[in-house]
Amino acid sequence: MSARHLPLIDLARRAGRALLDVLLPAQCAACDAPVDAPGLLCAECFRRTGFITEPFCVHCGVPFGSAAVGGAERLCAGCRRTPPVFRQARAALRYDTQGRRLILPFKHADRTELSTVLAPHMARAGSSLLRDAEVLVPVPLHRWRLFTRRYNQAALLAKAVGRLAGRPSLPDALMRLRATESLGEKSAAERTATVANAFAVRPSRMARLQGRRVLLVDDVMTSGATANACASALLAAGAASVDVLVAARVPDPRLN
Ligand SMILES: [Zn+2]
Ligand SMILES: [Zn+2]
Repeated sequence: MSARHLPLIDLARRAGRALLDVLLPAQCAACDAPVDAPGLLCAECFRRTGFITEPFCVHCGVPFGSAAVGGAERLCAGCRRTPPVFRQARAALRYDTQGRRLILPFKHADRTELSTVLAPHMARAGSSLLRDAEVLVPVPLHRWRLFTRRYNQAALLAKAVGRLAGRPSLPDALMRLRATESLGEKSAAERTATVANAFAVRPSRMARLQGRRVLLVDDVMTSGATANACASALLAAGAASVDVLVAARVPDPRLN
């Protein structure tokens, strides 16, 4: 299929979905159960969703299994060993089976409306970070990835969270300089090496970041290597501080 047919198919698909929204009762964002309004989770899915609450590492936000873990300073082993350059990270939910039911369609199946489902939970988890933030910056996709996926899921989240919190987002502030391989099965050290120097601030956006408190936004955080690499680029460009807010958090592989 030639690329010029894509927008038309896209349009037809969106129009079809909009029509269905009118004809059918609202469905849960994660399953088929009816709900009162679009963008809500049904009671069962809400109960199954692993919202992250204390105790978690105060630096990177990784949830602890029990209150006993983490020690008096409430830092995870990974942050004690190698403190990230970002100030604090927070996540709305655990990237478990239920978390994947929300994140994977959002990322790979054009379910862009899930950004407005995830955003309120992110705003709650990151309320203290949002109070400080002056500008929201999404983790960028490489331009080829953006071309095939047609949207940057992190940018949609930054926009939706920014709207809720009354903060501007700067979707093109960061650039991904090279397409990095999937971090899927990599160890924490391999992840760090893979994303080192993969990001830079767009020169035309430098002035908007200088002296600013930046909140970096992404969909999923695993070891924090990507967030850390982005934070390094933002700090090098003159950002006053960088915090991180993500929709979902994978158990930290640094803890294994
Ligand atoms: Zn449901
Ligand atoms: Zn930590």
